[in-house]
Amino acid sequence: MSACQSCGACCANFRVDFSIYELDTEGGQVPSGLTVEVNGNTCRMRGTDHVPIRCAALTGQLGTRVGCGIYEWRPSPCREFDEGSDACDRARARHGLPPVAGLQVG
Ligand code: SF4
Ligand code: SF4
Repeated sequence: MSACQSCGACCANFRVDFSIYELDTEGGQVPSGLTVEVNGNTCRMRGTDHVPIRCAALTGQLGTRVGCGIYEWRPSPCREFDEGSDACDRARARHGLPPVAGLQVG
């Protein structure tokens, strides 16, 4: 099982900005109702610029069991975010979770 399923820290730590052309209304796949406009070219996952940060698409309880409500249609920054990367470890640390590399696999 991926550490992500019991984490969600990155979805509650960073602004998630991407091109408006990823929106379903612009020929892409990301549900536009879960986003806010930043400027003419860029939009953002709703909730990722709030305090505390939490993406509107994140379901479940952070650090216990989570899911992305739009997993198949999530924007490129989410697709490109690497489990076990430095950014992942930073996000986890901010939510009191140990680095992925320190977890027992199995
Ligand atoms: S912070 Fe890392 S382990 Fe947690 S959900 Fe994001 S990619 Fe997965
Ligand atoms: S769209 Fe999904 S993967 Fe991306 S930040 Fe939101 S909950 Fe996380």
